Amino acid sequence: MKQVEILVIGGGPAGLCASLAASSLGAKVLMCERDDVPGGQLVKQTHKFFGSEKQYAGDRGYQIGQMLVEKVAADPNIEVWTDTTVLGYYEDGVVTCEHEGAHVKIKPQRTVIATGAAEKFLSFPGNDLPGIYGAGAVQTLMNVSGVKPAERVLMVGAGNIGLIVSYQLKQAGVDTVAVIEALPRIGGYLVHASKIQRAGIPVRTGYTILEAYGNGKVEGAKIAKIDEKWQPIPGTEEDIKCDTICLAVGLSPLTELCWQAGCQVEFIKELSGHVPITDDFLETTVPGVYVAGDVSGIEEASSAMVEGRLAGLSAAASLGYGKDVAAEQQKAAMAELDELRAGPMGERIRMGLEKVAAKGGAK
Ligand SMILES: Cc1cc2nc3c(=O)[nH]c(=O)nc-3n(C[C@H](O)[C@H](O)[C@H](O)COP(=O)(O)OP(=O)(O)OC[C@H]3O[C@@H](n4cnc5c(N)ncnc54)[C@H](O)[C@@H]3O)c2cc1C
Repeated sequence: MKQVEILVIGGGPAGLCASLAASSLGAKVLMCERDDVPGGQLVKQTHKFFGSEKQYAGDRGYQIGQMLVEKVAADPNIEVWTDTTVLGYYEDGVVTCEHEGAHVKIKPQRTVIATGAAEKFLSFPGNDLPGIYGAGAVQTLMNVSGVKPAERVLMVGAGNIGLIVSYQLKQAGVDTVAVIEALPRIGGYLVHASKIQRAGIPVRTGYTILEAYGNGKVEGAKIAKIDEKWQPIPGTEEDIKCDTICLAVGLSPLTELCWQAGCQVEFIKELSGHVPITDDFLETTVPGVYVAGDVSGIEEASSAMVEGRLAGLSAAASLGYGKDVAAEQQKAAMAELDELRAGPMGERIRMGLEKVAAKGGAK
């Protein structure tokens, strides 16, 4: 059994920042990442990020990821296990993982769960045809594996992911014939929407997909306008010829390990699904188990990095590290999160966090 002070599960922006923060106070960290390279979603983000300079706004996502990965690799307090999937969290606090072909047991004193999120899917006739992908999967094919994934795409969902992936498809020489969105308005940042509209890609709000069809693979889709009760309006059906349908209809927090650990988990719509209830320091209802990033509610890389920092500091401080500095650094991270969540774009998250507080947490 491997004994560690702090186990960080997931090597995305939240896990990387949690590891660096815990190490900065002197704690020894093991970070497990199921992919062969850490970085999480950042690995495939070729666009420039928004936000504040403190969270590297203006840099491209993959550059931010690279910078964090290099810092972690150079840190003697942090051991990184890649190609390592954490499988279980048991009642006695033992965590199991698959590592180098073996089933390995780890006994951490503290754990930070930073497993991110999974793409949501939609049910409609034909949704199991080859050629139907989550938008994130298409991004992985293009930007990580260098594969041109399609010729003609129908994108479902006009949030940031649908808009950004449509633009990246265009850059890869793929036509996005339309972006359809059930809501009456575009959900993503208008700067992303304007960019794709300037590139000639129509964004059609108030539309849904009725079905996908094709002989053994996607050859097209039927779409229709919907009314205020989200019902298709008869007579508005259209046939869209495409070889690929991308679903960009949201993400759900990947909370399986939180459930296994016995954390209180509640459904909070504004945070995009079931999320663990945490206190101000991102500790869950199971003492010694912390969360950070999309697993605690779908937000952005900027907040995932700050949450990671806060969770890492809190886990290390609870082991007695950084007695003189931890409290001040934790306070600074909390203030940064408040700043990121201020303003109209943060309203949904603020509402979600109020619900977390009402369920017994104190975010
Ligand atoms: C297309 C797209 C565009 C985006 N654009 C922006 C943007 O412009 N600005 C912005 O701020 N944010 C953006 N985001 C959001 C941002 O990427 C995420 O909010 C952020 O990556 C969340 O960080 P995380 O560390 O919580 O999760 P992730 O980045 O998802 O990392 C989680 C990591 O955990 C690993 N993992 C999961 N389960 C296990 C397990 N059991 N064992 C071991 N490892 C595990 C995963 O492999 C992954 O590497 C974008 C996201 C997408 C998809």
